[in-house]
Amino acid sequence: MKHTFDAIIVGSGGAGLYAALEVSGQAKTAVLSKVYPVRSHTGAAQGGISAALGNVEEDEPRWHAFDTVKGGDYLVDQQAAHLMAEEAIQAVYDLENRGLPFNRTPEGRIDQRRFGGHTRNFGEAPVRRACYAADRTGHMILQTLYQQCIKNGVHFYDEYQVLDLVLEGKKCAGVVALELSTGEIHVFESKTVLFATGGFGRMFKITSNAYANTGDGPAICARRGIPLQDMEFFQFHPTGIKGLGILISEAVRGEGGILRNNQGEQFMARFAPTLLDLAPRDMVSRAIMMEIRAGAGIRGDRKIDDYVHLDATHLGKETLQSKLPDITDFCKTYLGIDPADSPIPVLPTAHYGMGGIPTDIHGRVMGDNRETVVEGLYAVGECACVSVHGANRLGTNSLLDLVVFGRRAGRHMADHVKHSDSTPVPDDATDFSRQWIARLTDKRKGPHGGRILEEMQTTMMENVGVYRNETDMARAVKQLETIREQYRRVRSQDQGTSFNTDLLELIELGNLADLAFITAVSALNRQESRGAHSREDYPERNDANWLKHTLAFLEGDRVRLDYRDVDVSIWAPKPRKY
Ligand SMILES: Cc1cc2nc3c(=O)[nH]c(=O)nc-3n(C[C@H](O)[C@H](O)[C@H](O)COP(=O)(O)OP(=O)(O)OC[C@H]3O[C@@H](n4cnc5c(N)ncnc54)[C@H](O)[C@@H]3O)c2cc1C
Repeated sequence: MKHTFDAIIVGSGGAGLYAALEVSGQAKTAVLSKVYPVRSHTGAAQGGISAALGNVEEDEPRWHAFDTVKGGDYLVDQQAAHLMAEEAIQAVYDLENRGLPFNRTPEGRIDQRRFGGHTRNFGEAPVRRACYAADRTGHMILQTLYQQCIKNGVHFYDEYQVLDLVLEGKKCAGVVALELSTGEIHVFESKTVLFATGGFGRMFKITSNAYANTGDGPAICARRGIPLQDMEFFQFHPTGIKGLGILISEAVRGEGGILRNNQGEQFMARFAPTLLDLAPRDMVSRAIMMEIRAGAGIRGDRKIDDYVHLDATHLGKETLQSKLPDITDFCKTYLGIDPADSPIPVLPTAHYGMGGIPTDIHGRVMGDNRETVVEGLYAVGECACVSVHGANRLGTNSLLDLVVFGRRAGRHMADHVKHSDSTPVPDDATDFSRQWIARLTDKRKGPHGGRILEEMQTTMMENVGVYRNETDMARAVKQLETIREQYRRVRSQDQGTSFNTDLLELIELGNLADLAFITAVSALNRQESRGAHSREDYPERNDANWLKHTLAFLEGDRVRLDYRDVDVSIWAPKPRKY
């Protein structure tokens, strides 16, 4: 079946819904989502959204922009970060006006809490910059935006999985999607398409990410010749529940929680004397791993299961209940402990992809290193790379990125629609998707996807994790080549058409395998340590050779690498100290 719209938004997380809200008043808009909209991963965001409101302490957007640049280890495009910090204030008030129930100060203002890497006056001390709704900030954002989209008449296609992007030359014509309940293939012809498909943490074995975070958008774009930027930078959040990876928000440390080793020592005092437990995530994750390697971890069942403690016992039951109620529940459900009485066993968990589909500050996708725009194609949110997070994102800056750039992209799309003609989708547009599904369901015998997924996740976790080196990463690249080879023979055990979850998981596995391959190749190539990319064999940052964005082009069985300049027009790169 064929549908025609002015604007197609793929993904109904915070990024997709904000863009939909902006464009919907002015253009015929549809949102396609493989999960029911309010189940998008944005709903799991706990801690907060940053803006230099200065409601609780003095604060300035300039300080916020600087923290973002420094936190990103100077791989951030500085004008983009500056703009995000400036527009943050209005963005948060817009959310408030649209009905978001933020926590309040006694005077009735939006309350703010501390978060890692956010400081006063260019690094002096932590500052209260994160606006929050208990530890359910993302949930509240998603509910607020969804209600507004319904009010604005946005057309929702729930449980439609996008399989392919239709490009005519360097112009976008639409997308191809599978309707999950019927197995039917649909074509959506549109003047503009925006990818807001979220993260890809599922390429790692231990992750905070939802099952749906399989990087479909970037993988689809990569297969259509669009480069992916800075994929080697993947953030490990320091505090996942040991063994499970379920996130314990940084808000726990923002409220005063402390990481402790087997001596009960606050070890961050040795790694970041000024910011202590509120240093950026890359540094805290490395510090945890170093403590464990040095034998200062708390002994798990086996040595490889060692972990550290996140101690929130001194915060008191009342603070935990009022400011961190969901975290308290997670600890009771998954660990059988009350964080008011016992410290929480934690380990780093794969959390956030800084890299993704390269865009400009209007969300327009750039098809090469000369910033050539792919007409009508946009990307926003975790699947995109604008780049405001550089080599390491600060906590609370992702929700902000969704809102600021979601709004900008939505506005640009509305304008573009007015001044452009649609490109007809060619008759053979669905061939690739139909052949993919036909192969996966042709009843032949082939390897089972579950085992391949497991192997890929373990390979990535062990070789392309918090610490990296040439030998391990070269091994990972080889293994991923084999995995992609095996994927060509993989078959679904279910040939049904209605909610064939086996088939859908295999499609997602294909996407993850492509992204893991691109990530490992990009990481092996970058011979320095910067932000979340930490190499044992190249322990220093090397601005002379590597102050540049990676652009990776997927070309069949190989990845071709190119580079883009980093915008360092405001602050000259300096060594990072906290
Ligand atoms: C547990 C957790 C806590 C977090 N806490 C915070 C926090 O406190 N502050 C902060 O700033 N950041 C936080 N983050 C990060 C932040 O929440 C995410 O980066 C952000 O929400 C991503 O939003 P998004 O709109 O890009 O994508 P998502 O919210 O992940 O939405 C992706 C959408 O794309 C759709 N989709 C994907 N593939 C397809 C396809 N093939 N076809 C159709 N639809 C598709 C999905 O259905 C979904 O609707 C947290 C992340 C996690 C995992």
